[in-house]
Amino acid sequence: METIVNKLDSATHVKVPGNLDMQYCENHPGPSTMIAKVPYPLAQGKREFISKHLSSLAIGGVMRIGEVLLPGEGEKFPAFKNTDFIKHIDRMLDFMEKEDLDGLKILLTFLGIMPNFVTLFILWLSEKDQSFPTLLGAPLRMISIGLKGMIFTLYYSNIEDTEGKGEKIHHNIGYNAKIVKKEQNLPKFPETVVPSLNQLPNLVNPNVEDIAHIYLRAKQGEADIGRMSITQRLTYIAALKRVILNRREEIIDIIQRDTKKARTDALVSEIFSILDHLDFLLKAARKGLSDIHVKTPVALMGKKSRVFVEPMGTILVISPWNYPFYQAIVPITTSFVAGNATIYKPSEYTPLTGLVEQILDESGFNNYWVQVVYGDGKVGQNLIAAHPDKIFFTGSVATGQKIMSMASQQLIPVELELGGKDPMIVFEDANIERAVSGALWGGMTNTGQSCTAIERLYVHSSIYEKFRELLIFKARQLTQGQDLEGDSDMGLMTTEMQVAVVKKHLDEAKQLGARVEVGLDWDGLNAKIPPIILDNVSDNMAIWREETFGPVLPLMPFDDEAEVIHLANDSEYGLSASVWSGDTERAIRVARQLKTGNVSINNVMVTEGNHYLPFGGVKKSGIGRYKGVWGLHAFSNLKSVVIDANSPKIEANWYPYSKTKYQLFSKLLDGLYKSGPKALLGFVVNGLKLEMYSNKVGKDFTKR
Ligand code: NAD
Repeated sequence: METIVNKLDSATHVKVPGNLDMQYCENHPGPSTMIAKVPYPLAQGKREFISKHLSSLAIGGVMRIGEVLLPGEGEKFPAFKNTDFIKHIDRMLDFMEKEDLDGLKILLTFLGIMPNFVTLFILWLSEKDQSFPTLLGAPLRMISIGLKGMIFTLYYSNIEDTEGKGEKIHHNIGYNAKIVKKEQNLPKFPETVVPSLNQLPNLVNPNVEDIAHIYLRAKQGEADIGRMSITQRLTYIAALKRVILNRREEIIDIIQRDTKKARTDALVSEIFSILDHLDFLLKAARKGLSDIHVKTPVALMGKKSRVFVEPMGTILVISPWNYPFYQAIVPITTSFVAGNATIYKPSEYTPLTGLVEQILDESGFNNYWVQVVYGDGKVGQNLIAAHPDKIFFTGSVATGQKIMSMASQQLIPVELELGGKDPMIVFEDANIERAVSGALWGGMTNTGQSCTAIERLYVHSSIYEKFRELLIFKARQLTQGQDLEGDSDMGLMTTEMQVAVVKKHLDEAKQLGARVEVGLDWDGLNAKIPPIILDNVSDNMAIWREETFGPVLPLMPFDDEAEVIHLANDSEYGLSASVWSGDTERAIRVARQLKTGNVSINNVMVTEGNHYLPFGGVKKSGIGRYKGVWGLHAFSNLKSVVIDANSPKIEANWYPYSKTKYQLFSKLLDGLYKSGPKALLGFVVNGLKLEMYSNKVGKDFTKR
């Protein structure tokens, strides 16, 4: 950590267009594109550059061409590889039209990958443009002009001389290819209310004025992020991934301090899952957020249909306490990559105070792109009242209902990721050893405080006794504590209120005849609730119907497939489930009939481990899906666009209407939707007639 701070302090802060206060420095783990990572031999020493527009490969391409065109002439004209050109190339590329920029990026990346002789060959070839027919010569000439223009502009306009006068080289050569900032279409705020980006509103229990300020800052964040390409946004995600990976032990310390969870739980379920999610974004976001080309039906012949995947604006993320780092970073980063500003409110029980901001800051995020606002449910309500463009909520059913009700007053779209009462179904042909271990982990991981924890365990009656014995045996071996080395199986409960819920459910179950097989020694108060295995339970008990959210695993026998499907579905919740069987066909058959959002087969809680899959629940477990491409779309406005030609044609369904048009249209429907060659012919003939007629009467209404 210390080294990171030191390096940050020595960083040069460069203001670049688009209000992106990016850091430009050497050896900085920020949002840089790391030359050192690229197999590029020309970079001197280990330097890192940050570019708004170019990937490390493309930067390598610029250096390569620079070296070829201007290899440097000692003191007076330093070699291209020494120059700090990235900040200038970014300014220059800001002027380019998107299509040209995309083309240049492809070319530079290509040249960055290729060996030197290929670059030389392409440049040589581009000089010979006159020897080729126009079709080939023109693009070669364009390459030559474009590459030389770029390199010479960079070189002569911005490089300082080496004689200590502090002059630019263009002062000496008398030519200044000055780059002037183009006027940006920034959103305009009235003078009096423009929030200062540096002036932070109060983010802890903010009042209404603070919240208004927070939303105004978010508006500026929206504008910034909206101007970035997805590739640019992903450079921040790559930096974030590096920072989290490097600082994971410190992050886990803070998670453990707030949650009291086992260290391995924090490593696996928060750090590992987050890194995997960020990796997913890096690999899949570009495609997932690109325009979608869809088919255009024959009735709309000649038109093109697209879906533009666009940002929604400002997303309000409200999170629970059980996986506080994961529930912060996953929605925040998905929202950011999709182009939104984010206001994030953590749970008041596990705020991880300062951690998310610090991690994002170190990764180069500006503090108005993502704002962390601390407070309880009341603060959550005030944030909703200020009208975000979407609410992404993870938490309890009761709060989800309140949020939806409030959102409905303003018609704010909501995504609700709520509680669960997940069943695990073990058939007689399952691998018992594996299923027992899976059940134990699925019930006890994170001390049972997971929305997809196993809370109902159905075991086929023919293996019930054996399964139960092994489960009891293994549960007794579990170790518990808030260790710092990772050698405790289970941590402690995070909140007193949840301890009270576990006690209430357990007391009632015992009263109604449940047998506590493991965990009898718990006093009902201590947050160190041991693993509790319960037998002889019935489905009228709260412990079988309501979310317990603690390390309690009640089990029940069943006799056949239809019965267990019925039992598993007999719940208000429908988040996740697992089916265990040696017969995969049967397991899949059962999985199809379960009314849940997710099912793991011969595994537990594993669907959420794959970030390419959607995640979410049915029934009271929630509304909407996030993660995977569905998650990217959950934070996007899917805009349908039809592109037609700017022709003089008048559409058949436009005015004027007439009996003739009606009849032609009616015949066209037969042609369109009946089958066979006659129908096809009818479609063609009537289609042509209708088009001609519509054009005629459309131009002169009196001719109808
Ligand atoms: P909670 O509903 O009590 O609180 C969640 C968040 O909502 C907190 O940040 C809280 O301050 C805020 N909040 C409370 N009242 C509010 C209001 N009226 N308006 C706006 N915000 C309000 O939930 P919790 O106890 O923190 O979390 C546990 C619950 O979360 C469990 O039910 C668990 O199953 C669920 N959960 C679901 C998922 C999932 O992905 N489906 C994941 C984790 C947790």
